[in-house]
Amino acid sequence: MSVRTKIIAGNWKMNKTIEESLELVKQIHYGLNWPGEVDVIVAPPFTAIREVASFLKDSYIHVAVQNIHWEDKGAFTGEISAPMAKNAGADFAIVGHSERRKYFGETDEIINKKIKAGLRNSLIPIVCVGETLEERDAGKVEEVIKTQIEGCLNGLSSEDVSKIVIAYEPVWAIGTGKTASPQQAEEVHAQIRSIVERKFGENVSNSLKILYGGSVTPSTSKELMAQENIDGALVGGASLKAQDFIEIIKSANIIK
Ligand code: PEP
Repeated sequence: MSVRTKIIAGNWKMNKTIEESLELVKQIHYGLNWPGEVDVIVAPPFTAIREVASFLKDSYIHVAVQNIHWEDKGAFTGEISAPMAKNAGADFAIVGHSERRKYFGETDEIINKKIKAGLRNSLIPIVCVGETLEERDAGKVEEVIKTQIEGCLNGLSSEDVSKIVIAYEPVWAIGTGKTASPQQAEEVHAQIRSIVERKFGENVSNSLKILYGGSVTPSTSKELMAQENIDGALVGGASLKAQDFIEIIKSANIIK
């Protein structure tokens, strides 16, 4: 039996003002008084982190930032550092989201530095990896994922890796309405676990939480969550609707 408590994380992307963020998080908090055996995370935009985190002070819901810079401070106009995000109330940091890779040129090397910044500032990194459709069609999924994992986790100790969360997010499934089938997702999750096992040992890989992300909805989540190596979900679009997000959280409240 798996002892990995599931995580359901909502990535709000560039949506919601402060007031709208508070309204959404209240709907989730009051709509689902206790999520059972599930860790719930919301990732509002930077501007709303502080208000959302202070509302959630005594809640079961945790707060993530959607991105951090790799330095703790300095001349990086427009950026937000890990200590700033932590100070505003975040406990997790999404790093390497495919939208950051695609629109902002983030490489595995940059993501590696951001993971280190998160770890040294007590922010738990949620590290995103995933292949494009062309890479999948060319039969390169395992190779691409291995390169991303090894690049992102380069220079980390087993202890470091025991603190992180990985999100498998096939690029072709993000925001497209095309969810990977539970079998497709499970296959890659199992590969990720064995890549981590080879580099960082069995204890780390057994306890590593690997989330699936890519058009997860209440109707697809239950079967995905039932897979042996799927330890939760990173949810974009459906996390903006409180009722859908609550349904997804409920679908993860299963003991395998
Ligand atoms: C995401 O942004 O991480 C994501 C998976 O988005 P969506 O659920 O909308 O595909």
